[in-house]
Amino acid sequence: MSMNTQGRISRPHPDNDAPDGAPATFTGNRALMLEEPLIFERDGEGVTGVDFDELPEVTSCLGGLERRRPIGLPGLTEPEAVRHYTRLSRQNYGIDLGLFPLGSCTMKHNPRLNERMARLPGFADVHPLQPIDTVQGALALIDLVGHWLVTLTGMHAVAMSPKAGAHGELCGLLAIRAALEARGDARSVVLVPESAHGTNPATAAFCGYAVESIPATQGGRVDLGALKARLGPDVAAVMITNPNTCGLFEPDMIAIGEAVHTAGGLVYCDGANFNAIVGRVRPGDLGVDAMHINLHKTFSTPHGGGGPGSGPVVFSEALAPFAPLPFVEKQGERFVLVEEETAAQAGHGGAFGRMTAFHGQMGMFTRAAAYMLSHGADGLRQVAEDAVLSANYVLRSLEDVLEAPFAGSGPCMHEALFSDAGFAEGFSTLDVAKGLIDEGFHPMTMYFPLVVHGAMLIEPTETESKAALDQFVGALRSVAERAKTGDSALKAAPVYAPRRRLDETLAARKPVLTYREPSLPAAAE
Ligand SMILES: *Cc1c(COP(=O)(O)O)cnc(C)c1O
Repeated sequence: MSMNTQGRISRPHPDNDAPDGAPATFTGNRALMLEEPLIFERDGEGVTGVDFDELPEVTSCLGGLERRRPIGLPGLTEPEAVRHYTRLSRQNYGIDLGLFPLGSCTMKHNPRLNERMARLPGFADVHPLQPIDTVQGALALIDLVGHWLVTLTGMHAVAMSPKAGAHGELCGLLAIRAALEARGDARSVVLVPESAHGTNPATAAFCGYAVESIPATQGGRVDLGALKARLGPDVAAVMITNPNTCGLFEPDMIAIGEAVHTAGGLVYCDGANFNAIVGRVRPGDLGVDAMHINLHKTFSTPHGGGGPGSGPVVFSEALAPFAPLPFVEKQGERFVLVEEETAAQAGHGGAFGRMTAFHGQMGMFTRAAAYMLSHGADGLRQVAEDAVLSANYVLRSLEDVLEAPFAGSGPCMHEALFSDAGFAEGFSTLDVAKGLIDEGFHPMTMYFPLVVHGAMLIEPTETESKAALDQFVGALRSVAERAKTGDSALKAAPVYAPRRRLDETLAARKPVLTYREPSLPAAAE
């Protein structure tokens, strides 16, 4: 570790060891990829980006609660601050850099037109407490998106307020619970297939239900016989992802819906994978009672990085009266928000209240509206067709080198699934993922779904060209071959990334999220 004259620490990270032939003063920089310490380590005492006037003498009115020591905010000049974040951003990987094969995530290009629309001041600057007459355009847009979602899914009503897929699941299950309680038939169990997304059992448990698992068949689908055998007067609902997390369509969906309804339960469909069927299949025709749609997967909101999401929920006719409040309604020429007081008069069951303080994510609605209108119904159908075609291209291009457990049962939907069968002793899916980083690709989803050993789940989406798919397939093929022949160099991957192999378990289980300065000045008593 060395200090420069301004007290800024510069040092190579311990994981960023000097390559052969590196200068003795190796700083950790690799060509134009610059090593970047934590912002706190860049701290320059008394440095700021702006000049403040001398502070006037102030008398504290905090009654002795005022701070007695520096709070440890880093001091940087303006160019230092700009460069710090720019350098960090260059160590990131995003959809604007290359193909993002994460299965189950639908990471696709989001047209810039939609970003422009979302930034129009009339939408971007709207405030949820504005008088209703000043936000008629915003309400019309929410109504438009809701109308498209209801039409595309063949459902009856929509709740626009949920702010993520998992939040939509919560909304759907709360509506199901409200409907069951309204008929005096509170039930205690939610059935979830083995291949479900982790948020499904988590949501059911959060709602107070006992979660029971339904096994998958050899073909990666819900075992209809096992499901039917478990149905009974204690089962409130079944949560099914369709297309499922093996990238397969559930062909027994109608039979599942009929069986669940006959037993007095309701069907929740996890619609996060709607990208694969939009314009082709209407879940309402399959007997679904509630389903969330991830606008941040299918409908053009950039996804990832923990940014805002949006998970509207569509409802069947039976469940519509139990949708949350408020909702947008057109009364004559005017849009209104139906709130608690008016809902009862409108024959609304009263539901369970509201999901969020206001009406949802305006920026996401604007992007979705722009996406829907620019594609049209035909264009959206082609989204699904091209996404499925891309996934099948990847599946068939790699099945000679990677085992594809369900490829025998026909084409996949939007994602291709492989296992680690045939890898050399000691080589795993993790090694393949790390090898892909050295090839310039974000790794695929790994070890999910759990029903496949060493799973590798790849969702190329419709926005990649054949050339891009070929490049990805070539990279994955070469890494997979190294895993099969046991190339020991693969165990060291990644070697070109800013960091080598990190302890991912420790990073997830015991994240260090606060910076502790080695020696803070002692509090002045
Ligand atoms: C992404 C996803 C979810 C959760 O959606 P969030 O918006 O991340 O909460 C649920 N189920 C499936 C199948 C998904 O792919």
